[in-house]
Amino acid sequence: MNIPKSIKIGGAVYTVEITDRLDLGKVNYSGEIDYVNLVIRVCPNAEGKMEVDLLHELLHGIADFMGYANHDEKRIDELAHALHMVITDNPELFAAKRETAGQEWVKEETGA
Ligand SMILES: [Zn+2]
Repeated sequence: MNIPKSIKIGGAVYTVEITDRLDLGKVNYSGEIDYVNLVIRVCPNAEGKMEVDLLHELLHGIADFMGYANHDEKRIDELAHALHMVITDNPELFAAKRETAGQEWVKEETGA
């Protein structure tokens, strides 16, 4: 997976920064999301670790968008690891668009 320069969540465009400087402090955290300034910060680490950290903060952003004020850190982290597993195990899922089984089905339906 990729770590983009920005991520749009519910109409809000979060800037993604790779940085050691976290408002929360670096001792216990390797990423953070700032809902006010729309910034997701991920500490520079091994690629896979950074990807999971990004997904962790992304899930916080989605939960915030859905109106949840208190997030279960353990649950968010479990989901981040599970999501990372599925994304990396199924690279075709988010690859550039090309002909898929579904599109073939649409072709048959429309006769195109
Ligand atoms: Zn968290």
